Amino acid sequence: MEMEKLVSLCRRRGFLFQSSEIYGGLNGFWDYGPLGVELKRNIKEAWWRDMVTGHDDLTVHDGAPSTYEMAGLDCTIIMHPQVWKCSGHYDLFHDHMVDCRETNRRYRFDQVRGRWVEAKGERIFVATKAEVEEEVADTQRRALKYFNLRAKDADRLSWDDQFCTLPEVDSPEQVLAPDAKTLNTLTPPREFNLMFKTTVGALGGEEDTAFLRPETAQGIFVNFKNVLDSTRVRIPFGVAQMGKSFRNEITPRNFTFRSREFEQMEIEFFCRPDNSRAWYQYWRDRRMRWYTDLGLAGERLQLREHDVEELSHYSTGTADIEYAFPFLPAGEYGELEGIAHRGDFDLRSHMEGKLDEKTRPLEVQLGDDGKPKWRGSGKDLTYRDELTGEKFTPHVIEPSAGSDRATLAFLCEAYHEDEAPDEKGKMQKRTVMKFHPRLAPIKAAIFPLVKKDGMPEVAQRIYRDLIQAQIHVFYDEKGAVGRRYRRQDEVGTPYCITVDGETLKDGSVTIRDRDSLEQWRVKADDCVEEIRRRVELA
Ligand code: ATP
Repeated sequence: MEMEKLVSLCRRRGFLFQSSEIYGGLNGFWDYGPLGVELKRNIKEAWWRDMVTGHDDLTVHDGAPSTYEMAGLDCTIIMHPQVWKCSGHYDLFHDHMVDCRETNRRYRFDQVRGRWVEAKGERIFVATKAEVEEEVADTQRRALKYFNLRAKDADRLSWDDQFCTLPEVDSPEQVLAPDAKTLNTLTPPREFNLMFKTTVGALGGEEDTAFLRPETAQGIFVNFKNVLDSTRVRIPFGVAQMGKSFRNEITPRNFTFRSREFEQMEIEFFCRPDNSRAWYQYWRDRRMRWYTDLGLAGERLQLREHDVEELSHYSTGTADIEYAFPFLPAGEYGELEGIAHRGDFDLRSHMEGKLDEKTRPLEVQLGDDGKPKWRGSGKDLTYRDELTGEKFTPHVIEPSAGSDRATLAFLCEAYHEDEAPDEKGKMQKRTVMKFHPRLAPIKAAIFPLVKKDGMPEVAQRIYRDLIQAQIHVFYDEKGAVGRRYRRQDEVGTPYCITVDGETLKDGSVTIRDRDSLEQWRVKADDCVEEIRRRVELA
């Protein structure tokens, strides 16, 4: 699937728009249109229902070491600045960037790709920020220009076939930066904190600086005690939160994949240290199953365990659920969700002060004065087992997902082109979004075959019955029925209900399945049950 086709469908049919488009857009910010908002809400609601409100506390689920409880939270986006000092985001949450001295452009060091080329006795690395499918053409065009060659002399360029990223290049003086004309214009990589700063209150001094949260997780840690004290949850239990997060990404790109404002769906699962590994494995598999159950099946989805070198300092296990997004080079996958075993790092940091990742066992990081560099809250965030009286700091398993990335993956997976017969039975090309019925923005469309003979009245009655049953449906009486079907296929509506001549005789309507194109008849009065059952069973 070519990404442009999906991007254009998303815009044309109202899934996604560039933010502030009439002013030229703002890089890294996206708006969800009338259909996009429904799709994303359905994804978030499926997550909340499957993970929180629909979780059965009394049953031991497949692969789980025991039963467990789940609760939810909704915390603020701006929190006490000390939260980010103790979490490590203030000191550590950065990417490396490079600036181009010639063009004043800024790039994320690890995201600039390019390839080596030799001509006229000189070897240079041509860097590019072009989309993957245009990389070859872009580097070729720029190399020709640099070596002052014409297009017909392209065979004088001798290329290394493999593309690689800037960190793999050890001679910066040979790099032709993405928009530059001369070599060696990039600064050495520098750290750049990804947190957005803001000011709280009217005075606006340095001490009033606060941050927009770069993740939702910390709200859960700092409320750990509140949840324990206000509910009857006992370990093991999970606390879920979804909401906006903000990261000042250096190079937002690939549609919504890397945005500056996005939404996360995170769980912090608190358990005993001695069986935390088994819970980690449970969550890794449970989360993978959630995506496959909703239709991200097949070889484009994978679960990848991190190698030991890749693990963050305190983590004893991390796995990513990854999807082969069509904008990535063949064989590459992009992260949809990370599941990390975080040990007791977060609760201890908020209790005692930020821990030093380099120490074993972990100790509080000290400043030059020998005192904790970032002081914790001093509050007791340990857990006391009421049955055994034992006191301990729980270990944490964190499944951390992004709802925008999930939405993008479901959009990519849904996109299909095939053929369907028109009214005359002639095969016509169609674009069809094969969303799982639970996620589809519209569950059914209702059409009167023609706008007369009492058909619209019957169709409108069915429409109202479905709306009253809280099923999101769409009524359409305009144009040829074949065109109406195709418009619904293109936005992924799983069922179309048509009122026709038969309906007036025997009260039955036709239901058409989006994927199999199969058609069958049911009583008009049974439409609510039929659609509800099919959407829920799917
Ligand atoms: P990446 O390496 O892609 O920047 P990350 O490892 O920093 O991601 P986490 O901090 O683990 O990501 O965040 C958890 C989830 O939040 C990610 O799996 C992703 O779904 C989502 N996410 C993170 N950054 C972004 C972003 N800039 N735009 C959209 N979603 C994001």
